[in-house]
Amino acid sequence: MTSALVWLRRDLRLYDQAALHRALKQHQQVWVCFIFDTSILNPLLSKGQGFDRRVDFIWQTIQDLDKTLRAVGSGIIARHGDPTELIPTLAKQLGVQAVFTNHDYEPLAILRDETIAQKLENDGIQFQHFKDQVIFEKTEVLTNSETVFSVFTPYKNAWLKKLNPSNLEPFICDSHPSLRGRYAPMPKAIDTGIPSLESMGFRTTGIEKYLPPGQRGAELFLSDFLKRIDQYNIGRDFPATKGVSYLSTYLRFGLLSIRGLVREAHRRMLTGSLGASTWLSELIWRDFYFMILANHPRLAGGQSFKPDYDKIVWEQGAKAQKLFKAWCDGQTGYPLVDAAMHQLNQSGYMHNRLRMVVASFLCKDLGIDWRWGEQYFAEHLNDFEFASNNGGWQWASSSGCDAQPYFRIFNPITQSERFDSDGKFIRRYIPALEKLSNKSIHAPWLAGQLELEAAGIVLGKDYPRPIVDHDEARKATLIRYNVVKKVA
Ligand code: FAD
Repeated sequence: MTSALVWLRRDLRLYDQAALHRALKQHQQVWVCFIFDTSILNPLLSKGQGFDRRVDFIWQTIQDLDKTLRAVGSGIIARHGDPTELIPTLAKQLGVQAVFTNHDYEPLAILRDETIAQKLENDGIQFQHFKDQVIFEKTEVLTNSETVFSVFTPYKNAWLKKLNPSNLEPFICDSHPSLRGRYAPMPKAIDTGIPSLESMGFRTTGIEKYLPPGQRGAELFLSDFLKRIDQYNIGRDFPATKGVSYLSTYLRFGLLSIRGLVREAHRRMLTGSLGASTWLSELIWRDFYFMILANHPRLAGGQSFKPDYDKIVWEQGAKAQKLFKAWCDGQTGYPLVDAAMHQLNQSGYMHNRLRMVVASFLCKDLGIDWRWGEQYFAEHLNDFEFASNNGGWQWASSSGCDAQPYFRIFNPITQSERFDSDGKFIRRYIPALEKLSNKSIHAPWLAGQLELEAAGIVLGKDYPRPIVDHDEARKATLIRYNVVKKVA
């Protein structure tokens, strides 16, 4: 009997999963494991004092997967520690011939995998890894001259041209009767259960109330979105409307298969759905940023994609710290920016339009280094994904590969008037402004004293005055960006 260990990471599902499929096909006995990786969790512990929605989400999802595997006589082998130690140890204890997993594109993860591969090889165990989380990776989509793309639209066109049904075929796992019998029973000595959140220093966060973990949660959100997908192009820019999919966290941790989502969007696009076509473009952005990171690992070291942008001198010292804190706390005095930050702080989610608005506001209104914002998002977003987050921040700061030109500076008031015209989103997150008129809610300091009094607002007490003047900030930013003018 040959046997294998499948190591789940950011692919937390038991269907259409590349590594799992291959392991089940090639081996008669298959175990599945998950490591709560201390090199990832320990820094989160010190930042959030044990409150981290993502850890809770993953933990609940692992419980769910364990239940499913117990029902077929197996279970999840879950451990808390360093995978470079734990994976080789487990593989030896189980006596498997191979460890199967899916590609990770972040430089540190690649190093970790190389270490593990080497240790396993020393013990005569194979380490096999597969493309799973993207449709096309690293150098699969190239320009006519065989170089890597750095502009999205031609990349997207080439991506669509290359796409064929075989790229979207599901990797059959659990639903195939001949494979289902291959999940191996857990040896007693190995079956130590799933470490509790508390034992790892974390606590419950209540995330399940608005983002139900596990397969059922993913299916629920997907089926809800598929009812709305045809209108995605119309509603996606308005944060008060249920226009986007809210699937990012499920995709981030692999509860949904990217192939399944692309299949669905592509099929609908071919029948003329503009919504599905626009949504597919967003999924291609995701592949694009993974491809950019895989080909430019220096981005993970904090460098601008366009090196000249590293010459920009950002605000420093106590002033910068004060402005940054106001931004983090949703206290800038610009209601749309503040409401967006409250959404992030309260739920771990922020609408895409608002991510662009607050990112632009941080670097182009407050003059703060985009890396500070990138880090804040990394700590707070449920769907935090290095490649997309870095891509989004570098887009907003204009330092990125296919970015907003440096002189395009979002006006936070007109963005608010355009995308939250009746102030519904702002009112949801800043109740203090509830009674302001739809006109004044975008810039309360411009409201007359009578209106402010009638709305029960004292500026500077119930709601902050603006911490910067947008027109002044715009001028300062154009000067700040002078160093990149020649290359923009
Ligand atoms: P939908 O609009 O329904 O989009 C569907 C899916 O497409 C998303 O789930 C996501 O996987 C992908 N997608 C959509 N827009 C983008 C994009 N611009 N770039 C890459 N993929 C995209 N997305 C993340 O998944 N993780 C991040 O850490 C992240 N950080 C961002 C930071 C900034 C500054 C900006 C401007 C954008 C960031 N995005 C990030 C992209 C985007 O905002 C989110 O993917 C989206 O808001 C998630 O919500 P949704 O699933 O409802 O999106």
